[in-house]
Amino acid sequence: MDFNTNAPANLLKKYFGYDSFRPGQLPLIESILNRKDVLAIMPTGGGKSICYQIPALMFEGVTLVISPLISLMHDQVTSLVSSGIPAAYLNSSLTLPQYRTALARAGAGRYKIIYVAPERLLTPAFADLCRKIKISMVAVDEAHCISSWGQNFRPAYLSIAQFLTTLPERPVVAAFTATATYRVRDDIVDQLKLKSPVIQTSGFDRPNLYFDVQHPKDKMQALWNFVSHHQSECGIVYCITRAQTEEVAEYLNSRGIRSAAYHAGLSDSQRLQTQEDFIYDRIQVIAATNAFGMGIDKSNVRFVVHYSMPQSMENYYQEAGRAGRDGLPSWCLLLYGSKDYQTNRFLIEQNQKYQKDGMSQEQIDQVLGMDLVRLSKMRNYCFTEECLRTYILQYFGEKVIGQCENCSHCERGYREQNVSGLGKIFFEALTTLPTNYGVSILKEYFHGSKTKRITQRGLDQRNHFGVLNYMTTEDIGEYLELFCAEGYLQRSLDSFQTLKATSSLSDAIAKDEPIIIHRLLSKQASQKARKDL
Ligand code: ADP
Repeated sequence: MDFNTNAPANLLKKYFGYDSFRPGQLPLIESILNRKDVLAIMPTGGGKSICYQIPALMFEGVTLVISPLISLMHDQVTSLVSSGIPAAYLNSSLTLPQYRTALARAGAGRYKIIYVAPERLLTPAFADLCRKIKISMVAVDEAHCISSWGQNFRPAYLSIAQFLTTLPERPVVAAFTATATYRVRDDIVDQLKLKSPVIQTSGFDRPNLYFDVQHPKDKMQALWNFVSHHQSECGIVYCITRAQTEEVAEYLNSRGIRSAAYHAGLSDSQRLQTQEDFIYDRIQVIAATNAFGMGIDKSNVRFVVHYSMPQSMENYYQEAGRAGRDGLPSWCLLLYGSKDYQTNRFLIEQNQKYQKDGMSQEQIDQVLGMDLVRLSKMRNYCFTEECLRTYILQYFGEKVIGQCENCSHCERGYREQNVSGLGKIFFEALTTLPTNYGVSILKEYFHGSKTKRITQRGLDQRNHFGVLNYMTTEDIGEYLELFCAEGYLQRSLDSFQTLKATSSLSDAIAKDEPIIIHRLLSKQASQKARKDL
């Protein structure tokens, strides 16, 4: 290390006004200053900008920040300039004369940080600029856009690697993403041609957020039970459909909670008005589709309720994470309903994004498949009975804390249950049945119910028919769900959602290791559940 080790902290104070780094920021900054490529996995709002902005101030020459979102570029540059850091952006929001002026100033070395849209990289004017100035670092924001396995694939990101080869000297490359899948992370490293990168996951834990998942029969009633305990606070209720946002806002208004709906079907001026009413506390609750929230930095949002399950843990955590930015205790409640999975599945399959961006059919199928995997992991979150924060951190690949004591599961109490016997029965049955079946047939099969669909398929003649006749079909269904949630079973991605054993289950059985799941102590079935099976 040949840089002054106090410098990052001094710059943090001087330009950003903060006294200390968040966990994970300084190690990342030090890696970059040691001229190592990095892949940083940090949540949105986790504070990644500082991780490249501080090294940018310390390196000679310029740092390029490749970013997909024009609005974020604008916000970032405005705030850098107001802190006294010379910065600019180059994207399609500039008029031609403005663009030329910005390029000329950049060429004259007037900026330390330049934000650029990926589409600009290989244009002649930009390439010309890059030959004239020294580029010490290229920071790639939202780096998962480079992967067709990721959410929001942007083919223009694929030109970054080529762009890097056109530079007279290879800069340090720092990639940032909030994505969780290892496939996407590997793809980022490959596509950007990162050189032995330091890969670091940090910043996902938000200790002040309390997580809760409920499966209510009546969602509106459950919402009211929650909101009535938070009468004087403000929050967001995320809904899947526009109609749902209207319904929720109307209901809350009728109960004296000042609320408004927010969705893409409203006019720009209506949306802006609602947004401002919320920011300035003129309304308490905003019932919104996921169109709401990008770039909203309201620090005192005390709760985020998901009226329905979202499409991925990435989406969930980003939306839930809008609660409690001020660090004070805040609540994140997810209301799961039995139709949520199908509705999301339908939305994913309809999604226009697959038709756009000139993707090949193969890429489209790939993206669709990954979206369905993400949806099924989201569903598992709704069914797991372990510590919810542990599930989240494990999903994002961060170090696991065990019991967090700040989620509904830790509060209700759960324990590990040895279900090795049950695991063997599930495994043997699923690997010997001639085809795969979904939860509803399997629970009848194991219980021994002679329903029409069981007898029609001849399942009452097979070996494991009725082996669990001492359990109710509901209990068996619950265990099958838990085996999915704990990664021992997985659902097929087609609409039948048939179950099959995963390698975790077959490995545990082959190695004679105990099969352990987590069970809430307060569940109705707890008497039985507490016994090892
Ligand atoms: P993102 O990871 O989405 O780019 P930002 O870099 O915009 O997140 O950071 C989110 C918020 O956290 C910003 O308001 C930023 O100023 C703040 N922040 C970042 N680092 C720190 C820190 N060390 N101490 C306090 N606040 C910080």
